[in-house]
Amino acid sequence: MEEWKFYMPTKIRFGWGKFQEIRQVVDELKGKKIFLVTGRHFAKKHGILDKLSDFLKGLTLVMFAEVEENPTIETVDRGAARCRESQCDLVMGLGGGSALDAGKAMAMLQKNPGSIREYLDQERICQAKGLPFIAVPTTSGTGSEVTPFTVITYPSKKAKPAIAPPENFPEVALVDPELTMSMPFEGAASTGLDALCQAVEGFWSTQGNPLTRSLAFRAVKLAMENLELACFKKDKESVTNMALASHLTGIEMSNIGNTSIHPLSYPITIDYGVAHGFACAIFLPEVIRFNASAIKDRFRDLLTLLNLRSVEDFADKVDYLMEKLKAPKKLSRLGVKAGDISGIAKRGIGRSTAWNPRTMTEEDIVQICKTIL
Ligand code: NAD
Repeated sequence: MEEWKFYMPTKIRFGWGKFQEIRQVVDELKGKKIFLVTGRHFAKKHGILDKLSDFLKGLTLVMFAEVEENPTIETVDRGAARCRESQCDLVMGLGGGSALDAGKAMAMLQKNPGSIREYLDQERICQAKGLPFIAVPTTSGTGSEVTPFTVITYPSKKAKPAIAPPENFPEVALVDPELTMSMPFEGAASTGLDALCQAVEGFWSTQGNPLTRSLAFRAVKLAMENLELACFKKDKESVTNMALASHLTGIEMSNIGNTSIHPLSYPITIDYGVAHGFACAIFLPEVIRFNASAIKDRFRDLLTLLNLRSVEDFADKVDYLMEKLKAPKKLSRLGVKAGDISGIAKRGIGRSTAWNPRTMTEEDIVQICKTIL
């Protein structure tokens, strides 16, 4: 009998239109002065900020609308300083994984001294719970609203390290799939493919347990059946199902992390400016093929459910889905040259590579990269 444990302290509210419950969430946390961490344009442009100001009438909202994609140390430290000056009592992240991760880090730094860099470099460790953090995702991809992971870009090291102290789990995750409706096609495709990668990685991880595997199983099915519709048709059902897929992967991933694909994405994003989800997905079909012998038993029920005969068919189906979503499938299309591959393979190995179901060496990664060049 397998032995396992699971931890999820974040309170969850999920559903279409749930954004209107944000006032209740803030009141329950006794927030009076809220530090809002978000991206530069989209929330204003699509009327989400106006709605939020309306819901929070009577409370003070201090805005930090300066988070870029893949937020850097400098952005986090600047936001944390602004939050300290403004003496807010609560932090809210509104956006994709970038705004949520930046917000988590800023909330943490209100009760822990120094720069986020020192925590990424393990010169300091998180000693105290930060300010309460409410996570409101507006993309369906990362599940960051229910993870302690705080992924920050470290430009001088050309890396995207993460910290994950349990104190960094958000207090509340408010997931309203309607907030993702303004995502442009390319963004929805990229973030949705991130959710699919996380789901597959969660399902085959050697760190998995019955609970994480159940969540990942359902998330793979939801993503495979809804991603295309959520991008092309954008109907309420498929958009909600993608928000659910992403959310479920966040819950399982919060306990077991990822495997080989996520670390591989980091050099692709940093060196070639590729969106996080596309940078993960470009490796997915080939890594599925690489893992085939190790996962075929575990994938049997999933394949039956998806009406597929083999793991290789699953890889082909993902390939086909990526083609429909106009996702990049060849590294050379992103600017990668044959001579870059050994560097990608070196930097693309992370701690979680060890949790891949089949041992993956640097030489294996070189072969995978050559196949998809
Ligand atoms: P993102 O947050 O970088 O957002 C992508 C773009 O979409 C941005 O320009 C953003 O402003 C815009 N956007 C967001 N919501 C929108 C909306 N509703 N309408 C229109 N535009 C919108 O993308 P992401 O993929 O959600 O997050 C990626 C980041 O999350 C990366 O840094 C990645 O490393 C990190 N990540 C974190 C975790 C975690 O558990 N903490 C997990 C996976 C990935």
